[in-house]
Amino acid sequence: MAKSETSTVEKTHESLNFIEEIIEKDLKNGKNGGRVHTRFPPEPNGYLHLGHAKSICLNFGLAQKYKGLCNLRFDDTNPVTEDTEYVEAIEKDVKWLGFDWGTRKYFASDFFDQLYQYAVALVQSGHAYVCDLTPDQISEMRGKPTEAGKESPFRTRSVAENLDLFERMKNGEFADGSKVLRAKIDMASPNMHLRDPIIYRIRKAKHHRTGDKWNIYPMYDFAHGLCDSLEGITHSVCTLEFEVHRPLYDWFLDSLQTFHPQQIEFARLNINYTVLSKRKLLQLVEEKYVKGWDDPRMPTISGIRRRGYSPESIHYFAEKIGIAKRDNIIDMSLLEFCVREDLNKRAQRGMGVLEPLKLVITNYPEGQVEYLEADNNPEKPESGKRQMPFGREIFIEQEDFMENPPADFYRLAVDREVRLKYAYIIKCNEVLKNEKGEIVEVRCTYEPESKSGQDKTGKKVKSALHWVYAPQAVSAEIRIYDRLFSVEDPEGDKNKDFKEFLNPNSLKVLQNAKLEPFLKEAKLGQYFQFERKGYFVVDPDSRNENLVFNLSVTLKDAYAKGKGK
Ligand code: ATP
Ligand code: MG
Repeated sequence: MAKSETSTVEKTHESLNFIEEIIEKDLKNGKNGGRVHTRFPPEPNGYLHLGHAKSICLNFGLAQKYKGLCNLRFDDTNPVTEDTEYVEAIEKDVKWLGFDWGTRKYFASDFFDQLYQYAVALVQSGHAYVCDLTPDQISEMRGKPTEAGKESPFRTRSVAENLDLFERMKNGEFADGSKVLRAKIDMASPNMHLRDPIIYRIRKAKHHRTGDKWNIYPMYDFAHGLCDSLEGITHSVCTLEFEVHRPLYDWFLDSLQTFHPQQIEFARLNINYTVLSKRKLLQLVEEKYVKGWDDPRMPTISGIRRRGYSPESIHYFAEKIGIAKRDNIIDMSLLEFCVREDLNKRAQRGMGVLEPLKLVITNYPEGQVEYLEADNNPEKPESGKRQMPFGREIFIEQEDFMENPPADFYRLAVDREVRLKYAYIIKCNEVLKNEKGEIVEVRCTYEPESKSGQDKTGKKVKSALHWVYAPQAVSAEIRIYDRLFSVEDPEGDKNKDFKEFLNPNSLKVLQNAKLEPFLKEAKLGQYFQFERKGYFVVDPDSRNENLVFNLSVTLKDAYAKGKGK
């Protein structure tokens, strides 16, 4: 990975990124008859992550901006690693991000017949041959970038023999790995991808869509550009590592004289404190370091959805990071900033005491309950107000009380006054402890004249605490998440396994949180802000009698201040 930098967003024009510039130039020149047609081409071998989200926003976004089309294409050329579970998860994720491929859902496997015909055409024109070298021999004879490779002894087979052998490969007459079809390009090319790359291999495996029909499968490099061409893709946007493959894709398209999409490369998204690679994320799932692909700590789209990030915040993030031509690393805090900005406008406010401490207001009449008005969302006055019960016994946050406070602690302590938000000013008079010496209750008196909005005391207090009325409090389990990795670049040390850098404290479960009564009715998919604490959503593990909430993001950027939580 490159060094962390933020200035690589390359906007050559005030509002256009470099891909948009290319598209606008093409439109001006009437290229492709004025069509803009992009695609998002995942391989269904894992769940999508935030890097894919960026690619989805880019490809579908370009189609929307230029009134074009965007296809969803599953690049399912490898029968061994692919699965329909992944296909379904990918579709769900793209939809969740708000995009629609209409009737244009394709699979590379839909094109297997056509791709086979293309391969036959290459054989017929002398551009491809069947090679019997072992995989080891092939890779050894490819040579090094600085020295030419050696030509295969099978390179000079006749067209007729190649046609016969290739057909018999297809018919399953040969064992896996015993033969491949290779493009006949240039064993001395400085671009290793052009040194007679393999285009078809024998693999007698069941494919998740074509079943046992095929004994041979096209290589990704052969299928990818040709599928783009078959689908009429005008702008084939992909990540930088495919730049060196472009001459090969061009060679296939030119040799076959088919429609030629333009490939454009951009820098892949990297984010610190996590890994964006399906292969590595799969390890975390399979080896049970996380609870699944949708574990809220995972950088997968299903993970962040469960975590309570909104799709809009991901769009906002994608827009903010822009499109770069050089690799860079984006700070996780930027993503969290975007989530916070969006949820601030979206989230219903409520009170949640995560680690409760009982507080008794000794001069408040026993058995009396009053209802106090609280904002549903101050960012959206039209969302109105709600009524919060208040009475003699409430819960406050343990951390909001200190027995021996330092000078800069402005919350509750003996003989000090604070406001209970939306309620009254209280003063602490006494603490009760259990036999272990732990504080179990604080006793206060309130100022009846200090009711929020009608305060006649003229008193100034330095803080307003959140609280929940105890007799009506709803109990819940709260899952608090931290970074999945404890170092910025878990893949940075090539001598170590990235899993060594997993953060052992990435999940903390608080079993005994106390929430405002209305939160009992909280539904999956609703966004909440627990005042002073952060944004929360219901977790799917939640049951009527066992409410579970996830922390989406804290209110403040805990990391900007050196992890000063
Ligand atoms: P991974 O390395 O995680 O397996 P991949 O590139 O192999 O990713 P694909 O399913 O082949 O995954 O990717 C589908 C599309 O998403 C491709 O066009 C790819 O360029 C894009 N993509 C994948 N990872 C990123 C990323 N980190 N940033 C931006 N785009 C990405
Ligand atoms: Mg891939």
